[in-house]
Amino acid sequence: MTEITDPTYAQQLDAQDPLAHFRERFVIEDPDLIYLDGNSLGRLPQKSTQLAQDLVTRQWGQRLIRGWNEGWIDLQAQIGGKIGQLIGARADEVIVADSTSLNLFKLALAAVQYNNGRSKIITDDLNFPSDLYILQGVAQLAGRPLQLQIVPSDGIHGPVDALAQAIDEDTALVALSHTVFKSSYTYDLTAVTQLAHHAGALMLWDLSHSAGSVPADLHAANAPLAVGCTYKYLNGGPGSPAFLYVQRDWQTRLGNPITGWMGHQNMFDFALDYQRDPGLRHFLTGTPPVLSTALIEPGVDLLLEAGMDQLRAKSVQQTSYLIDLWRAWLEPLGFRLNSPADAARRGSHVSLGHDDGWRISQALINEMRVIPDFRRPDNIRLGIAPLYTRYSDIHEAMRRLRQVVTDRLFEQYPAAQKTVT
Ligand SMILES: *Cc1c(COP(=O)(O)O)cnc(C)c1O
Repeated sequence: MTEITDPTYAQQLDAQDPLAHFRERFVIEDPDLIYLDGNSLGRLPQKSTQLAQDLVTRQWGQRLIRGWNEGWIDLQAQIGGKIGQLIGARADEVIVADSTSLNLFKLALAAVQYNNGRSKIITDDLNFPSDLYILQGVAQLAGRPLQLQIVPSDGIHGPVDALAQAIDEDTALVALSHTVFKSSYTYDLTAVTQLAHHAGALMLWDLSHSAGSVPADLHAANAPLAVGCTYKYLNGGPGSPAFLYVQRDWQTRLGNPITGWMGHQNMFDFALDYQRDPGLRHFLTGTPPVLSTALIEPGVDLLLEAGMDQLRAKSVQQTSYLIDLWRAWLEPLGFRLNSPADAARRGSHVSLGHDDGWRISQALINEMRVIPDFRRPDNIRLGIAPLYTRYSDIHEAMRRLRQVVTDRLFEQYPAAQKTVT
């Protein structure tokens, strides 16, 4: 049998990979550059370059205002419906709008206004900072004393037992990331949703780091509310708008706190009073960014074509392979595994900790042409996008990472950190 550290082992896995051909559907101009940051900004689908050209020159340039009736006005619901297929939701339960932060704000405030006799919002300290800030703002705007309780973790694993203790009859809302951004810990959607519901609290999931790489079956989990990002594993492009999900039964019970004309039931009546749309559209507010909304579709289509089960199977095999290489090559050099060892509780990125993590990640990018990202205090995040990451990319990236340390290439880099990584 071939050793896992042997490059031919990776080549064999690539040769057997049923999803290998999807890589050709992306623009990859430099085969020597190993991109492991698809969890922060996904790659450019080939089809998106053609679509962008058509959107600008024909749809905008020639069709002008007629474009709205020729498809623009339906894009948010239509692409939302497709995203729904990736996350176990019905077509009329998902819509594309705004940013993840804004969608979180709308749904969280709606939820605490609905559950208005309760005085706590619960989250954990693994959640994305913007989510925490938004929840802090929601607590201030609720119009009654509302406390945000941030349940502490061990830094890697979701504090499930402590959450179960904290969620009680006084909890209005539980808001968590399905897959957490630093460690990649992934909650059991069904079990945690049940915890919240047993106490009469509403559950709000952020799927930003799972959508498109980890199956999130919202219906199986009976989850009422979710938001998520499209520029990560969905490959929608820098700053592409986010999505929000509201389970059918909840669409009539909850109201969007940011009432705008796009959420009106007859926006072109230009009435003086707000009458909300009976369906999910009332969670819209203003005019959507048509170009970047339309550009979400090619990436979503590729994921649907590949299928979430196949994508998850490959992602688990790839993160496990990466961890095997860490154990063989990097653990002896002082790297720590800052992600769950249990594949069932892990998303599609792996964080490796090292005391010189920031400098090592800089050397990896500049000297070795491998692009990870870095998250304080010590996490080198290695994102695996099963649509286009090859086993041989993982092998080569880990070999180069080892060389950065064995050849001490990181020592020329200063310890201070730049802003965007
Ligand atoms: C990426 C990410 C976001 C991003 O929010 P924006 O509003 O798009 O800046 C939010 N939450 C989580 C969990 C994320 O991973």
